[in-house]
Amino acid sequence: MIELEGLTKRYGEKVAVNNLTFTVRPGIVTGFLGPNGAGKSTTMRMMLGLDRPTAGDVRIDGQHYDRLKDPLTYIGALLDAKAMHGGRSAFNHLLCLAQSNGIPTSRVHEVLETVGLTSVARKKAKGFSLGMGQRLGIAGALLGDPRILMFDEPVNGLDPEGIHWIRNLMKSLAAQGRTVFVSSHLMSEMALTADHLVVIGQGRLLADTSMADFIAQNSRAYVRIRTPQRERLLDVLHGAGITVVEAGEALEVDGSKSERIGELAAQHQLVLHELSPQRASLEEAFMQLTAESVEYHAHSDAPLEQPEPWGDGWRKD
Ligand code: ADP
Ligand code: MG
Repeated sequence: MIELEGLTKRYGEKVAVNNLTFTVRPGIVTGFLGPNGAGKSTTMRMMLGLDRPTAGDVRIDGQHYDRLKDPLTYIGALLDAKAMHGGRSAFNHLLCLAQSNGIPTSRVHEVLETVGLTSVARKKAKGFSLGMGQRLGIAGALLGDPRILMFDEPVNGLDPEGIHWIRNLMKSLAAQGRTVFVSSHLMSEMALTADHLVVIGQGRLLADTSMADFIAQNSRAYVRIRTPQRERLLDVLHGAGITVVEAGEALEVDGSKSERIGELAAQHQLVLHELSPQRASLEEAFMQLTAESVEYHAHSDAPLEQPEPWGDGWRKD
């Protein structure tokens, strides 16, 4: 379990992490979602004692990171995979880590096997592809067999096979009862992996919710209809007590009523060019949620430039 209480980090004028309070629980994958610059990495560094909070507190199983005895056996983290590319072989990299933390060599072989690097264990890590480097970083995180695992944007730059592998690994670690905390700036990624969501924007907490609730609240089901007999269809639907919203050339009806609408159209011999059940995307819901936080901080200043959703535009204050 990881508990944050009013966690805050300032860099000069900049408030990178603003009064975050939430708990990361065991047995599930918790997604930590926010646009670039939202404060995810800063939060994770503070969890690991790599950055000192300006205010507030973060506890790992009830203790501060620097008070943990053998921290690698409590929490394993993948922060920046590129940081560990080096002249050492994968095996030696992990062996050093193991020896300086009182972990037996047998465990090095185990984690190499888990991440699928056994066959390249004697190769120098600096020759590794991004995906292999990521696997090596994960092997390091798993080394102490910790109950808590933390991954900062682990799928960035990976190929589909690597992404699939990491997703399954995170789920199986959670299924073993571990606490799994993983950051991403992509809602689509979280939707496939996380059971619980913590969303931040501009360092502030925007949502702390189960993935199922987030989906239920944010992915509105509706039916899209196109017809050359618009007025007549509107009459028929209104007559049946169905509320219709006009959306450009199409009509939209809330809920999942496509069968009912199709039957009504047939009864009245109306032609339909489209009758399609739809769901608003989670990505849209996430963009809306975080865009509001950006606007909240931006108004009254010079006119806001249209920020690129995940580009540097989000970093402007
Ligand atoms: P994320 O990981 O969500 O993309 P970060 O935690 O990296 O966000 O950054 C949050 C904000 O804090 C950004 O505006 C970033 O520029 C700023 N920041 C992060 N680290 C530092 C630092 N060492 N010095 C100054 N500003 C920083
Ligand atoms: Mg980051």
